[in-house]
Amino acid sequence: MLTVTPNGSQPSAKGSADYFTGAVRVDAPFKATAPARVSGGTVTFEPGARTAWHTHPLGQTLIVTAGSGWVQEWDQPIRSIKPGDTVWIPPHVKHWHGATATTGMTHVAIAEVLDGKVVEWMEQVSEAQYGKAQ
Ligand code: MN
Repeated sequence: MLTVTPNGSQPSAKGSADYFTGAVRVDAPFKATAPARVSGGTVTFEPGARTAWHTHPLGQTLIVTAGSGWVQEWDQPIRSIKPGDTVWIPPHVKHWHGATATTGMTHVAIAEVLDGKVVEWMEQVSEAQYGKAQ
């Protein structure tokens, strides 16, 4: 039987300071039941907020729904992302995503779980790394 999880039935969660810089909110998290393994949620970054560097064991899809943000793969230039843009991050590619310095950004993040893990967290994105977009 299908499941409808109503908007407002799950509390908003704060992104942990261990894995995010700045104010980050996660709403409407979802996780399929096995054998399906898709999971995700809606993530909102205040201006200046971003993830730490990280990888996903089976990759990740981002669908930008509001605002204006940045995404970067290690050793590659920072890319601008806007509502309607989709981003595919292949498995094990080191990257970060977040808001721009002056505008918030919201995306839906979708990734599949492998051996109980959906993400491998690494070091924070430094001000110097983040500032290269400006
Ligand atoms: Mn990611």
